[in-house]
Amino acid sequence: MSGPVPMPYPNADAPTQEMIAACVHCGFCLPTCPTYAILGVEMDSPRGRIRLMKTVWEHRLGADSPGLEDHISKCLDCRACETACPSGVEYGKLVEGTRSQIVAARSRSPIERVVRVAAFDWLLPHRQLLGGFAAFSIAAKRLGLGTLLRATRLGLARRMADLLDLLPDRASSAPLAAAPAIGERRGRVAMLQGCVMGSVFGETNAATARVLSRNGVEVIATVGQTCCGALHAHAGERERARELARRNIAAFERSAADAVIVNAAGCGAAMKEYGWLLKDDPAWSARASAFAAKVRDATEYLGDLGMSEKPGALRGRVAWDDPCHLLHGQKIKEQPRALLAAIPGLDVVPLAEADWCCGSAGTYNVTEPDLARSILERKVANIVRSGAETVVTANPGCLMQIQSGLRQAGANVRVVHLLDLLDEAYRSPR
Ligand code: SF4
Ligand code: SF4
Repeated sequence: MSGPVPMPYPNADAPTQEMIAACVHCGFCLPTCPTYAILGVEMDSPRGRIRLMKTVWEHRLGADSPGLEDHISKCLDCRACETACPSGVEYGKLVEGTRSQIVAARSRSPIERVVRVAAFDWLLPHRQLLGGFAAFSIAAKRLGLGTLLRATRLGLARRMADLLDLLPDRASSAPLAAAPAIGERRGRVAMLQGCVMGSVFGETNAATARVLSRNGVEVIATVGQTCCGALHAHAGERERARELARRNIAAFERSAADAVIVNAAGCGAAMKEYGWLLKDDPAWSARASAFAAKVRDATEYLGDLGMSEKPGALRGRVAWDDPCHLLHGQKIKEQPRALLAAIPGLDVVPLAEADWCCGSAGTYNVTEPDLARSILERKVANIVRSGAETVVTANPGCLMQIQSGLRQAGANVRVVHLLDLLDEAYRSPR
């Protein structure tokens, strides 16, 4: 007697057959895919990866198959294919769902399990611990630990050296303070402090609050917020991501702000998808969707609101580089360009392939260092060709990745968050 056919994926986070069926195999996405451009392999293209997801539903490939993991791990989750797709395939949801199935199906070595627990349970949700770890790592980098690690020629040591290269020369973990609206109040918002933003780019958080305040937006303090869970979701750790999402929803609901402002594109993209992340949780799904509708990237919010106070003048040639999770993940293109153009005195030059990933992509530069390096080299070459003295972007991963690539290439180009540049302009004479 034959029973029901077992579900080929381990749980309900699996990519659904309906979403997979939206792909009509046209291939319009292929020229936009950085991994396909480098590897030239169909299975490392969006269309090929979707085909693999379907093959699992057809019971011709296991969710624990090393081949599936290999091609899915090499995907940046940059979502450039989503922008290019005429059929509206939600590739980000598909790939993150597939990653969660691989995590659930595959057994991990004890070392891998410890690394995952340390990163996802200890460091990322605990900003002070992460801040201490970042400060310690920056000090070790200054003392030459990277050179020492490279000299060992051990794979793990070299990866740790690569990680140290990514860190900026100094970190700021100042807690995010509330800021009053200056002049007529035009909004009342709460801000995500963030894990990496809060422990390394605390100064950018403070700059964001100052810029909002100058534009008549009150920034209120929010107690109980935590890491947004984006890195967890990218890495297939959806249960852990859900736990963090619930804590954030509860914390920001208490603040009763008009909007939740995020200045890290990866975090904003993830928080706008809390409704999807918690869709199967009856106690939280409606709250998650209501919360997600309030999330705004800082450039989106300020660009849509319009600046009430004109910034002061700055000098130099600058280029804008789109963070993937701002452009492809949140479809925000015009607002950051308009804000940059509003700073008097700047010569804004075009950057070829500004919409192309820099190779940071969550933890990609750690998990796929060789591919990440090739993708970064392409970005650095475009920046150098543009003649820009400053590259402006809006995501911590991009800031660190691009700065490290430029440093290694010996290019004297500054990399700065758009909100830091705006803050600088406001402090500059008109
Ligand atoms: S998300 Fe990026 S890397 Fe992945 S398939 Fe799409 S375009 Fe390629
Ligand atoms: S563009 Fe969209 S429909 Fe066409 S192959 Fe790519 S994912 Fe499928």
